[in-house]
Amino acid sequence: MILMLAVPAHAGAADRHVRNSAEFARVVGSLQPGDTIVLADGTWRDFDIALVGEGRLDRPITLRGETPGGVILSGNSSLTLTGQWLVVRDLVFRDGHSTKGAVISFRAGKGRVANNSRVTNVVIDGFSKPDRVDSDYWVALYGKGNRFDHNHLTGKTNQGVTLAVVLDGDESRENGHRIDHNYFGPRQPLGSNGGETIRIGTSGNSMHRSETLVEANIFDRCDGEVEIISSKSGGNIYRGNLFLRSSGALTLRHGDDNLVEGNVFLGHGKPHTGGIRVINRGQTVRNNYMEGLRGTGFASALTVMNGVPNSPLNRYVAVDRATIENNTIVDSARITLGAGADEERSAPPTNSTFRRNLIGGVGAIPGLAVESDIGGIRFADNVVPQTAPEPWPGGTMRQPVDMVRGPNGLLYPTDATLAELGARRDLAVVAPDAVGVRWYARPDERNRFGDTGRIITVNAASGDLLAALADARSGDTLVLSPGAHVFSRPIRLDKVLTIRGASFADAGNTTVRLVTSEMVDLVEGGALRLQDLTIDGSRIVANDQCAIIRTGDGSMQRNTAIELSHIAVRNFTGCVHTQFVSLAPNTMADRVIVEHSEFVEFPGPILNAVEERDDEGRYNVEHAVVTGNRFRSVEGPVVALYRGGKDESTFGPSLIFVGNDLQRVGAPNSDEQRHAIALHGVQSARISGNAIDRSGAIAVVQTVGTPRLVITGNTFRAAPAPEITEMTYAGPSRAEVGDNIYEQ
Ligand code: CA
Repeated sequence: MILMLAVPAHAGAADRHVRNSAEFARVVGSLQPGDTIVLADGTWRDFDIALVGEGRLDRPITLRGETPGGVILSGNSSLTLTGQWLVVRDLVFRDGHSTKGAVISFRAGKGRVANNSRVTNVVIDGFSKPDRVDSDYWVALYGKGNRFDHNHLTGKTNQGVTLAVVLDGDESRENGHRIDHNYFGPRQPLGSNGGETIRIGTSGNSMHRSETLVEANIFDRCDGEVEIISSKSGGNIYRGNLFLRSSGALTLRHGDDNLVEGNVFLGHGKPHTGGIRVINRGQTVRNNYMEGLRGTGFASALTVMNGVPNSPLNRYVAVDRATIENNTIVDSARITLGAGADEERSAPPTNSTFRRNLIGGVGAIPGLAVESDIGGIRFADNVVPQTAPEPWPGGTMRQPVDMVRGPNGLLYPTDATLAELGARRDLAVVAPDAVGVRWYARPDERNRFGDTGRIITVNAASGDLLAALADARSGDTLVLSPGAHVFSRPIRLDKVLTIRGASFADAGNTTVRLVTSEMVDLVEGGALRLQDLTIDGSRIVANDQCAIIRTGDGSMQRNTAIELSHIAVRNFTGCVHTQFVSLAPNTMADRVIVEHSEFVEFPGPILNAVEERDDEGRYNVEHAVVTGNRFRSVEGPVVALYRGGKDESTFGPSLIFVGNDLQRVGAPNSDEQRHAIALHGVQSARISGNAIDRSGAIAVVQTVGTPRLVITGNTFRAAPAPEITEMTYAGPSRAEVGDNIYEQ
């Protein structure tokens, strides 16, 4: 009897099963505290769910799928929450996109926020707007006291933050939101600003406190842009998160008094993997662990920036009262202090402390880059290895640092006298099965050639190359037998394919003979590797626009990849204005690799990625790698890359151009073809060990940011010296140009 009396609060609570949006609309108007709406298993197309209700702390209103993973929201679907004490769980958004500003919003319009509500066990998988420059959030947190936990978000391809906390009114500030135990899966390089995984606040609201807790999440390959997390408000806590192979940094971009503690950054040696970037006042960075990070500059393992005196809200407030203590940084590339110092960012850090940090002992010793006066940082009780190349400030001991892995998998010093330095022994590394949902598969590596392991042999005599291409599955390899394979019409490739000859030795007589001015048009999902082949253009009927491999019938959501290895390209003189690889606006390649190949008498660029002309900081290839090739009589430039505008949010484009042999490249037929290489706004370029003979100039235009340009160890024979232009930067040359030989 007593037991029964103890639970009457739940009397009348109902499970409302609904099978379509009309039924949902009927029940949503009459929800009582404690009610549950159950969406029937199945696919719900074009369903904009507007959940409105007033639950109670002890009797929330719940919306859930019938079984976890059983309810798919597809097409143009979305979810808004309005009211309080609402819970949403067990939904999957995939195979579509929202037409709204957010897939999930804790607000149904100005002032109609949700408070004390929770979204949990929800999946958003590739639910991106088709046009990659069309912006939205996947999750927008408004109101107060909301929790977003144990969700799985992966594969956002369009512009806009994956999860944003919006502070645009008193009802959403000092919000106490919790964002915890989520799996933030791979986000590909966006190729412009707006690829953050989390942003809390905006510059305009950065004087307000958000007081949001971001705890125990995993960020797996979150490579959207330089900021994995962009903290743009005060009073936030970032605690116990795991950053795995993510290019970028947790950035305290605007706002004061944030705490970053107990986070683990594991870069696994991937480029641009960073740690924590400190800007503004009263920031505390303690007990974090960094290993295997390769980022430098703004993506160093630790970056303390220089600020702008009396900074406007959208620039850089100088670092003041920062406490950076008990962090461990091993096998990482760089620590940068006073980062970004220039004429505008002239205010160095003040009243700050850097103590009990352990910088050591295994693998690469982190370099120290000091870009301004750091007299305002007090150093105490830090340790670096004796072999650290740079001078370290006083307050840093140089001594051997031997380390072993602790039970949590992290490295700790064996020397007991160092026990108080670096990250704590009991630092908890969040486990993969503690985040996200258990019933939805995590994403694999992307764009991996040969993934299926299927090898399909194509006989030259049978003439069935095009049929084999049509039948192949993504991840297959087509192996062409020696002989001539006729390519009679262009194909649209929407899968990841390798086409190769049977062997390196047979590459010369395994020929793909084009009878068409285009070979492969890469469309959504497509990526191509060509290997051990000769590509022959002798049968092309004169045509003034050839593009052998191209992207671009509108926007591509997923980034593509193109690899050319040991191919010979001949007899394209029937074409004019040809491009071997041509990347169109609104498409993006994670990588274009051209290696150990030969291009003879080719009438145009080999890699052309210059069409993104809006000057919004967009570009079309993240990593261009051109190594060990021979270029003979190629109309230039062999590589042309363009990234216009003033944005500083991307790591790319980057170019490695090493060990190539160029003769008569960029013949001066016309002005635009006179360059051997033409780069504009490239963030990182290494042009080394090339022989450049009777060719046009290497032309580089450097724009904003901190571009790294290295032109070393090349031989120029009857070829001009590199032409380097700085558009905005006025200081001494930033390019490393040297050790080159110039002959007549
Ligand atoms: Ca950004």
